Parts: sequence; structure tokens; C-alpha cells
Amino acid sequence: SVPLSFFGGIGGASQIGVLVKGSNYLEALSEVDTVVFDKTGTLTNGTFDVVAVHPAGGVQNDELLELAAHAESFSDHPIAASVRRAYGAQVDQSRVSDAAEESGHGVCARIDGREVLVGNAKLMAAHGVEAPACDVVGTILHVATDGRYLGHVVIADTVKDDAAQTIGDLHAAGVRRCVMLTGDREEVAAAVTAQLGLDEYHAQLLPADKVERVEALLSGEEGHHKLAFVGDGINDAPVLTRADVGIAMGAMGSDAAIEAADVVLMDDKPSNIARAMRLARKTMGIVW
Ligand code: ADP
Ligand code: MG
Repeated sequence: SVPLSFFGGIGGASQIGVLVKGSNYLEALSEVDTVVFDKTGTLTNGTFDVVAVHPAGGVQNDELLELAAHAESFSDHPIAASVRRAYGAQVDQSRVSDAAEESGHGVCARIDGREVLVGNAKLMAAHGVEAPACDVVGTILHVATDGRYLGHVVIADTVKDDAAQTIGDLHAAGVRRCVMLTGDREEVAAAVTAQLGLDEYHAQLLPADKVERVEALLSGEEGHHKLAFVGDGINDAPVLTRADVGIAMGAMGSDAAIEAADVVLMDDKPSNIARAMRLARKTMGIVW
């Protein structure tokens, strides 16, 4: 039978904007010793701003942004929204056909009949387009049409206000490993890791690589770990279901995330993870 205090715990969690889908997840949450975070939209705001536009191959800044914004017009990735915002003008979706998201890579679409690619170096490589190595800190979106390289756009994200404090609180609570997984570049991941005091990161991961990483962490040599994964569900719903406790950002996160998660944070604040853990332990009678 379920102790009455569990209902108190779940109710208390909901009062701080944390939705727990069952008493078993409250119990698991009280035992978590490894917290794995997705980067974009979870530890960072996911509201990228275009900070530089670098055309190559004869096009102008505004043409590059126009193509990128149109190619991104069907995507709900935070990166896509930032490109459309920087373009400023209205996107004409009637010019766009065959738009397809390549998860963890970028997008591919036809604009006025021409094939346009917008995404990272992996996307370019997968389509046989040669892209230059870029020596800047920021997320880089390469743009190509019909196999020809057209330049790149640099976008920058910011870490959430309470992210560093949350990592500190989790460490103080005895969480041994705070890990970040990201599809973004090594340079960006290293900068965010240092800024937040994370224990470890893994960069340039595809969605399937994230699942593999989580499985490796779950079967660590030092014995079984209770692992929580925190994400927004964009490209990471499979990991949410694999973790002992899948925690989703509920406000900006996707429906897929809310569906796949065991715990939903209504206001997307990482600090609520530490609060929920404290409450879970109190409910279980563990002193923190
Ligand atoms: P994260 O692991 O940081 O949450 P994702 O797995 O969602 O990031 O995406 C990983 C990388 O794939 C991004 O950093 C970007 O380079 C590329 N990417 C994903 N979606 C898009 C998109 N819609 N447009 C351009 N690039 C994208
Ligand atoms: Mg993501």
C-alpha cells in the first residue's frame, strides 16, 4: 500500500509547480545521485540571438538570413525561432516545400525550387558540402544551396539565471554527478560547463548518442545509479523515458516531453529540481 504521506508529497510538489506522475517517482527522486541535463532550453534559455552573419560565395547578409528563415519556417526548434526573428520580415511559406528536420543536424527544404540546407557541420558533411572550420564561441548555422556553400550565421544562447545555483545545491545535497549532454559544439559545451560548475559534459551528440550515454551512466562500474534526466523533449524524448526519473520542462517544452516525462516542471526553472528533491526526501523521511 502507498503511505498517506506520498499524497502529501505529490500535493506539496504541485504547489511549487512540480507535477509528479506517481508516488514511485517521488521515491526514485529522493534517491537520485546522478542528474543529467540537456543543454538547450534546459540549462540555457534557448532564446538564441543572431550575433553575426558571415556570407560567402557572393550573397549578401539579408539574402543569407532570408534563405535560412524560410528553410526554418516549419521548425519548432529554438534555433529556428531565432533565425526567423533576426530575419524580421514575414516568411512566405508558399515559397517553401519539402521542409524536413534532420534531428540533431538542422533542416533541409526547397525554396523557390532550390534545395537549401541550414544546420551544423555534420549536416553539411552528410550532404557532401564543404564548410569551413569556424573559430568562435557560439552555435554556428551553416547555409548551403544546391550543394554550394553560402556562409554561416552565429547565434548565442544565455544560461538560465538559476542554473549555476541549482548545480551547487544539487552537489550540496550529495548528488555526485551533474552531467550535460548536448548536440552542440565542443567549444560551446565546455564554456557552459565551466560557467555552471558541472562535473562533466558530452558534446556533438545525436539523439541516439544521448540514449547511449544515459545507458552507460546507468550501468556505471561503481554500482547502480539512480539517474534523473532533465530535458525539454526537443530531440530528447527517448532519453526522458530511459532515465529512472525523466524530468521535463513543461512551459517551453514539447507535448512529447510532457507525455514522456515522470516529473514536469511547470515554469522551466532548474532550481525546482533541487526543491522537488528536497520535498521527495522529506516525504521519504530522509533528512537533508
Ligand atoms: P541540444 O542537445 O543542445 O538540446 P539539439 O540536439 O536540439 O541540441 O540540436 C543539436 C544541434 O543540431 C544544434 O546545436 C544545431 O547545430 C543543430 N540543429 C538542430 N536543430 C536545428 C535547426 N532547426 N536548425 C539548425 N540547426 C539545428
Ligand atoms: Mg534539446
